[in-house]
Amino acid sequence: MKQGFHDFLEVLQMSGIADWGPFVHAPEDAERIKRFFAAAPVTVPPVEPPPSPPLPTPHSPPSSPSSPSPEMPRKSASPKNRASALALLAAEVAQCEQCRELVEYRTQTVFGTGNPNAELVFLGEAPGADEDKQGVPFVGRAGQLLTDMITKGMKLNREDVYICNVLRCRPPGNRNPDPKEAANCRAFLDRTLEIIKPKYICCLGAVAAQNLLATDQTIGNLRGQVFDYHGIKVVCTYHPAYLLRSPDAKGKAWEDLKLLMREMGITR
Ligand code: URA
Repeated sequence: MKQGFHDFLEVLQMSGIADWGPFVHAPEDAERIKRFFAAAPVTVPPVEPPPSPPLPTPHSPPSSPSSPSPEMPRKSASPKNRASALALLAAEVAQCEQCRELVEYRTQTVFGTGNPNAELVFLGEAPGADEDKQGVPFVGRAGQLLTDMITKGMKLNREDVYICNVLRCRPPGNRNPDPKEAANCRAFLDRTLEIIKPKYICCLGAVAAQNLLATDQTIGNLRGQVFDYHGIKVVCTYHPAYLLRSPDAKGKAWEDLKLLMREMGITR
C-alpha cells in the first residue's frame, strides 16, 4: 500500500495536479484526486529504484513561465505511472473550454499517442479533420507519411515514439492556430513533456518549431540544426502535409531525420 500511495503521489505530481508539499491546489483538483484514488488499484507494481538527483543542464535556456518547472526533479518514473499521468492530463484536456471557437467546432480533443516512456517526441501543429474524428493525432494522409518517415526512414515503430500537437483541438477549416490558442494550450504541451521527459523532440513544420522554440524564424532557417530546449535536443523539419504538397523537399526532410538519428545514436 505504501508503494501504491507513492505511485499515486508520483502520478499526481507528474500530471501537474500536485506538488510534493501541500499538494492540493484547488477544490476541483481535490475532487479529481478523490475520484482517482477511489479508482487506484490495490495491487502495486514492483518498487522503483530511488530517483536520481537532477542532472545539470548547462546549455538550457532560462526558464519562462510556460516552460517546464525547473524545480521539479528529473526523476525517472515507471512507464505505468507515466501512462497514468498522461491519462489524467488527457482527461483534463478533454474538459478544456479555453478557446471558444475550437470548443464549438471540435468533435473531441486530440491529446497524444504513443509510448509514454519515449525518448523521442514528434510535435505537430494541430489536429485535422481525420484526427478530430478519431481523437488520435496524425492518422490522415500526413499521418501516413509521418508513419513512413518513422518506420521506413528511421526504422523505428510508431509505438516507440510519442506524437502530439501544439493544439489539442482542430482549428475549423484547418486554419493555422491562433497565437492566443497556442498560448492557452501551451501548459498542456509543457506538462506532457514534463511527464514523458523525452531526450529528443522533432518539430514538424513552422508552427510547431516556432511555438516550441519561441521564435519567428522560418522552418527553412530552423531545419538542419540541433537546438536545446531545457536539456532536450530539438531538430526541426518540414511538416508531412507540406511534403505531400512539395515532394521535392523530401530530400531535405530526410537529411533532418538523419541528423536526428545521429544525435540519437541510431546507426542504420
Ligand atoms: N497535422 C498536424 O499537425 N497534426 C495532426 O495531428 C495531423 C495533421
